[in-house]
Amino acid sequence: MQYSFELITGPMGCGKTEELLRRIRRCVIAKKKIKVISPEIDTRAHGDYIESRNGLWYDAIKVAHAIQIMHIVKPEDEVIAIDELQFFDSNIVKVITELMKQGKRIIGTGLELDFKSEPFGSMPELMCIATHVDKLHAICMKCGCEHATRTQRLIDGKPADKSSPLVMIGGDETYEARCIQCYELPNAKQDEEVSKKFKLLHFEAR
Ligand SMILES: [Zn+2]
Repeated sequence: MQYSFELITGPMGCGKTEELLRRIRRCVIAKKKIKVISPEIDTRAHGDYIESRNGLWYDAIKVAHAIQIMHIVKPEDEVIAIDELQFFDSNIVKVITELMKQGKRIIGTGLELDFKSEPFGSMPELMCIATHVDKLHAICMKCGCEHATRTQRLIDGKPADKSSPLVMIGGDETYEARCIQCYELPNAKQDEEVSKKFKLLHFEAR
């Protein structure tokens, strides 16, 4: 059987899940045997389903560890859709490789960069083993351009500091897509060190 691993990536709000749901719908029309999986950490959807920002949804099996996917997928399953790949542990790379060996079509979504603009989880490896990668862009929420590639974290409406935790659960933070020119990452710790050094230099010079 022809295997493939289609990876849909891009910043928050670029329509990854919407695109995944579009492909799932086509598989349903084609009467393919499909399993839809999402990580348990995803706080956006509280029930056993995946949901796009425009309100589309589909039933999904929630899993806590990547390895559990191997028990969920049955030999007769043809298509495996996995949402929010960045939240899985590093075994996800082995799991997807194994599913490809079994001839499955895997369709996945994931944020390639975290709020600090650093590669998110196993996304770099997943982008390497994917047979197809689609990088979607969002609309920048600051300047309105169509090339937003970054996910801006805001706490109380202000850009979050570099030292804030990678995954915040139940916090007051919000996210928005931004282009590289509008993206901001304050670094209070570094600023403090620089100003300390500057003060020291200033003191020594006197
Ligand atoms: Zn912008």
